[in-house]
Order: sequence, then C-alpha cells, then structure tokens
Amino acid sequence: MVGGGEGAYIGGIHRYASRLDDQYELVAGAFDISAEKGRAFAGSVGVASNRAYGSYLELIEGERARADKVDIVSICTPNHTHFPIAKALIEAGFDIICEKPMTTTLEDAVSLHQLARSSGCFVGVTYTYSGYPLVHEARALVAQGVIGTVRVVQVEYPLEWMATAIEAAGNTQAEWRTDPKRSGRGGSIGDIGTHAYHLAAFVSGLKLDALCADLATFVPGRSLDDNAHVMLRYEGGARGLLWSSQVAVGHSNGLRLRITGDKGSLAWAQEQPNELLHTPLGRAPATIKRGRDDVSDAARVRTRTPPGHPEGYIEAFANLYGGFAEAIRARLDNRQVGPLGRDIPVAYDGLKGVAFVDAVVDSFERGSVWVKPEFV
Ligand code: NAD
Repeated sequence: MVGGGEGAYIGGIHRYASRLDDQYELVAGAFDISAEKGRAFAGSVGVASNRAYGSYLELIEGERARADKVDIVSICTPNHTHFPIAKALIEAGFDIICEKPMTTTLEDAVSLHQLARSSGCFVGVTYTYSGYPLVHEARALVAQGVIGTVRVVQVEYPLEWMATAIEAAGNTQAEWRTDPKRSGRGGSIGDIGTHAYHLAAFVSGLKLDALCADLATFVPGRSLDDNAHVMLRYEGGARGLLWSSQVAVGHSNGLRLRITGDKGSLAWAQEQPNELLHTPLGRAPATIKRGRDDVSDAARVRTRTPPGHPEGYIEAFANLYGGFAEAIRARLDNRQVGPLGRDIPVAYDGLKGVAFVDAVVDSFERGSVWVKPEFV
C-alpha cells in the first residue's frame, strides 16, 4: 500500500476490504508522505519493519529486489500523486489498484491508460459503488430490457461535510481537496461527481454524447466547485441530470440513482443498499432484496450473507478487491475471467472518469455550453 497512514481515510477501508475474503495479505507499505510517520505506522497494521518504506520509490526498489515481492500495490494517496506513483509502479512491473480520480489531468489519464495496455499490468480503479450486488442487479435488469428503453437518468451525490470552511480549521482531507494543485480541476465534481457519473454509466449502459455544466463555489475562499449540476445527453436520445455537492446540509453520503425507461423505472440509494426499487409501468413498486434467490448471478456472486443480514460499504469495496484478484488470477492461469472479475472498474474507466470531469469544467468555463466529452 502507498498512502493510508495514520489518520488517513480511504487506506483503512482498502485494508478492511482486502482482508474480507482472504485473497490478500498486506506485507509492505509506504504509508505516509512523512517517511518517519509511515515507517512508524507500518507495525500497527502488521507490516514488518524491513518492508516499511519511507517512500513509494523506496518501496519499488526494496520490493523488486525480493524473490517474494508484492504482487499488487494499492494507491491510497491524494489525487495529484496517483499518476507519478502509478506510472513508476507499472514501469517496475507491478499490478496496481488506484484510487479515483485516476489522475488530475486528461493527458496523464490517457498516458496511464496507454501504459496499462502496453505493459499488460493490471490497473483496477476503485469506483466503490459498482461493487454493490444490487447495482449489478440494476445493470442486469436494464440490459435485459426490463425497464424498456431508457429515457431519463437522475443521479445525485450530495454530502454535507464541507458545508463550512473546514479546510481552514485543520481538516487535512478537506485541505487537499480544495487545492487545485492537489485535487485537479474539479472540486465536488472530481471528488464525488466522478462516482455519480460512473454509477449512472455502469447501470444504464448508456454512452454520453454531450454535457452542459453549472458549477458553484458556495464557501468563500475556495477556488474549486463545491456544488455541480450537469445536464447529460446520451447517445440514442436519453437525457440525464447529475448533481454533486460537498455543501448539501443534511446529506451524509446521499448517492442515489433513478433510471426511467418506457416500461418501468429503477431506484437505488447507497444508504439503503440492500434494496432496489423496480416500478413497472402502471403497476405497484416491487422491492428487490439483496440475497434473495430471484436476483441475477452478477448480484449473487457479490453477496456473502443471507437476506436480512445487511451488507454495506465494506462488502461492496471487498467485491472490487475480489474482482481484481480474480482478474489477476485468470491472467496468471491463462483462463477466462470468472463472474466476480467481470464488469470491474479498470484503467479505461479511470480515463473516462477523468475525461468526464475535464469536460464538465470546460463546459462551465466556456459559459455553461454543451460540450462533447472525449473517451466517455
Ligand atoms: P487522506 O488525506 O485521508 O490520506 C492520504 C494519505 O496519503 C495520508 O496518509 C498521506 O500521508 C499519504 N500520502 C500523501 N502523499 C503521499 C506519498 N507521496 N507517498 C505516500 N503516502 C502519501 O486522503 P483520503 O481521503 O484517504 O483520499 C485518498 C484518495 O482516495 C483520494 O484520491 C480520494 O479521492 C480517494 N477516495 C476514494 C474514495 C472511494 O470511495 N473510492 C473515498 C474517499 C477517498
């Protein structure tokens, strides 16, 4: 692991998720921007002192010299560091799992995607919400035509935690997220809008044709958006609306998706992830429950506990880790990827996410005009 040291947020989630199914063992790390703190932290997560490195460059040097070198490295650092760390690791022959947004510039995203292809290294990108079983169920239902032709996609990701200038009061997570040099061109849109975009595309299966964005910065002193509205036009005529906000008072982690077709609609919310609402045209809504027998294989392979025993965020994250492990094992065994390793977020999804953010900011900076994004 690179990043995820003392007091960091997502590194801990990666550690829980990677351990859930006994597919990974954490054996080495450069956990902190401070070499000293990173080395000191390693012992607390079971990493031996001779594999506790002061930087990712030290990690690469130390590990590549070992017969039992690490198989895969998770990058859990702030956005601007993803590209140099990922590039150096791939060039040294390591498979990687990279946090989103994959890079802070489109140029770097294109370059990393190309490097992933030319090297043959595995690059997983942690679009967390595509790990939920009922998100896969929704995707399967749309693909089977259960809601007919998709007409409207509504996706929102409102959060409250940055409703005041907490970056000025010592919150380290908010501090780098509000700095364009470390966050990238997008504020809320790069941090969480990218999740919403990925979720909508993943479930609907639709390809974006054009977008038009209105960004706002409500908290004084910020230079990046903390609220974004984006109108979406999909190929084939469907329309969409995406809202991301870091200042939405009252919302803890309010990621929510509604997809309406000509025969029915689907609704799913991250805070109640064990239920998916399906409403056929003219009929009463039906609740699809995670863990019951009538769900698709794609949902079933991502389920651990029987219905009624809730699964959530860590399990969804673990499903990504399980999928990444399966993809790598299939490559090593020269066989077809099993169901858990299918439809997992990889470098191309990372590239599309960065291209989306770039197009949103372009649209707004040009006066909220319609823009045709590249790659998405
Ligand atoms: P954080 O500030 O809590 O933690 C960052 C960690 O990286 C710290 O331990 C820091 O010391 C370390 N670090 C920084 N530069 C480093 C370097 N060069 N080498 C080694 N360690 C370094 O940040 P966070 O909130 O955990 O976010 C980290 C990344 O995860 C971001 O890219 C963010 O967008 C992403 N994230 C993803 C999700 C998700 O749902 N997938 C959720 C939260 C954050």
